[in-house]
Amino acid sequence: MRVARRDAAVRAAVEQGLLGADSPIVGLLDVTGIRESAARLRAAFDEVTAPGTPVLHAFAVKATPLVPVLRLLREEGIGAEVASPGELALARAAGLPPERTVLDSPAKTPAELREALALGIAVNADNPQELDRIDALMRSAPSRSPLGIRVNPQVGAGAIEALSTATATSKFGVALRDEGAREWVVRAYTERPWLSRLHAHTGSQGVPLSLMAEGVAETYRLAEEINRRIGRPQIDTIDIGGGLPVNFASDVTTPTYAEYARTLKETVPGLLDGRYGLVTEFGRSLLAKHGTVVARVEYAKSAGGRPVAVTHAGVQVATRTVYVPGAWPLRIAAYDAEGSPKEGPEVVQDVAGPACFAGDLLAQAYSLPLLAQGDYAAALDTGAYYFAHHYAYNSLARPGVYGFVPDGGGGTAFATVREAQTVEEIVAESGGAHADGLTTLRAPERR
Ligand SMILES: *Cc1c(COP(=O)(O)O)cnc(C)c1O
Repeated sequence: MRVARRDAAVRAAVEQGLLGADSPIVGLLDVTGIRESAARLRAAFDEVTAPGTPVLHAFAVKATPLVPVLRLLREEGIGAEVASPGELALARAAGLPPERTVLDSPAKTPAELREALALGIAVNADNPQELDRIDALMRSAPSRSPLGIRVNPQVGAGAIEALSTATATSKFGVALRDEGAREWVVRAYTERPWLSRLHAHTGSQGVPLSLMAEGVAETYRLAEEINRRIGRPQIDTIDIGGGLPVNFASDVTTPTYAEYARTLKETVPGLLDGRYGLVTEFGRSLLAKHGTVVARVEYAKSAGGRPVAVTHAGVQVATRTVYVPGAWPLRIAAYDAEGSPKEGPEVVQDVAGPACFAGDLLAQAYSLPLLAQGDYAAALDTGAYYFAHHYAYNSLARPGVYGFVPDGGGGTAFATVREAQTVEEIVAESGGAHADGLTTLRAPERR
């Protein structure tokens, strides 16, 4: 179904002129698929939690920071996890209420903390110094914000070091197994009756379900210990973070939310028995498989005997893949000039981007029907952390992003999510208003 919707959308994008010689790259979002993933997430946790358990699924805005996406997820009952003033502004622009918003960044300024507490947004303190700042704010004005501390259960790394948040030396949260740390956390709660949440985010791409569940279990055991020591259920909500990995190797969704929820049920049954509310913070797993970057093949050439398709999608939309291709391989699909899936024998070729450095390759030595000039190359599973994460190398423009649904009559309807960036906007963002700023700045003449 998903593949059929995608194929229809690529063809319709060409027919309707969203894609073509003058707009050679777009990002496409499968609205039906996003709604389905949101529904599966809700159903998975409904299945394993005691009836009436409050569960907030807060989408990690950093995965796809686009206002219409946040609004769509809001309609599907999903809140927002934000980690910067910009992300908070996006969530508010999408209409997310404070009670469905969670602030988690590791470097919150006093002004950000004051704003969050004034709005009543949930905040997870990353470290003792941040908790000091929250103490001062709580003394000056009471807040309805649910407040917690982020801990790092230090359960170990996954397959991608840069994305492993629960290593011994991770920069996030209070490292629980460090000397004195656990005792400090327990005391922090004992001394602050308003600390009612506990947070950990241990998973990410490359982290197996069992290790994610181990991080959650460690967090749960700490909450139990704190509540026992205080003698009442002061911690009433556990925020288990996000991090469900995504299968970038095929169109199959695996692991599923249902599998993860069942793993939690087996590993940490007490977490789901109704004594604790839950917050989740999934990002990549909600959006990745519903996004596609489609780029026109400007030129098809050959070098050293290998065919090279020079397309308009490269490092600016697939930064991780281009710089760390071993950890972030993408599947590429070939479409012809009309936007139909390309047939024909597979040929080993490079799919290159438009940027001026040799490593700007979406895929290297990749087998697919030979791409010709005017065809399209589609980078699949790019709905999270790809085209919404523009990297302004070579001042390449941010592509337009469009959401699509089948129109009921065999065609596809599109809605604009984000317009393509214009060259005028690029100039404005690049200091265009300050063109003589440097030439008029002079050190005093030396005598
Ligand atoms: C990035 C992040 C998430 C989302 O991670 P995914 O791997 O996209 O699910 C959730 N919580 C926190 C604190 C994060 O930093």
